[in-house]
Amino acid sequence: MKLIFATANDNKAIELQKLMGDTIEIESLKSLGFTKDIVESEDSLEGNSLLKADSVFNHFNRACFADDTGLEVEALDGAPGVYSARYAGPTCDSEKNMTLLLRNLSNTENLKARFRTVITFKSKGITKQFEGIIDGTIVLEKRGSKGFGYDPIFKPNSSDLTFGEMTLEQKNEFSHRARAFAKLKGYLLAIDSI
Ligand code: IMP
Repeated sequence: MKLIFATANDNKAIELQKLMGDTIEIESLKSLGFTKDIVESEDSLEGNSLLKADSVFNHFNRACFADDTGLEVEALDGAPGVYSARYAGPTCDSEKNMTLLLRNLSNTENLKARFRTVITFKSKGITKQFEGIIDGTIVLEKRGSKGFGYDPIFKPNSSDLTFGEMTLEQKNEFSHRARAFAKLKGYLLAIDSI
């Protein structure tokens, strides 16, 4: 079965193809010539994920899915959450986002955090959401240079390594995204056709 991944990030699409295996063929927006920028204007992961899936479904009238992920820090009432990509402002990068997050946590002992991914699958007459969560803590010194985003300062509870110190294969054993996509894959294989 073939379905469209509503992401402009080709690397994500390639990575996802690996997680999905052979029976599910992922098509990226770029490979289909879709270059429109979808503005993530909602204030929740659920909302943005749905907005992206709706936009692509309405364009192609074909089965598709979209994801949205955020780092939710307990002591910051769930921030940066849906604003994780642009936490330090419109011109930010991962370094600036991590620096701001660590500064905002400098007066707290509660370093509990989690990554949460929400996937929305859309097909004719079907809208379904799947969630993947990994609980962990923020480490106050960046560790490791692998991965992206907040990886060097996030340590899952069940490991001594930060995501930044893990290979992609190791990270995929725990990650929020891998967990959410495993649920989507299970659903797709169970319904068998889309
Ligand atoms: P997206 O929804 O996958 O584009 O993720 C939004 C933002 O969350 C990214 O720009 C990163 O800052 C952060 N993020 C998402 N997934 C991860 C991850 O696996 N590790 C570290 N940061 C992540």
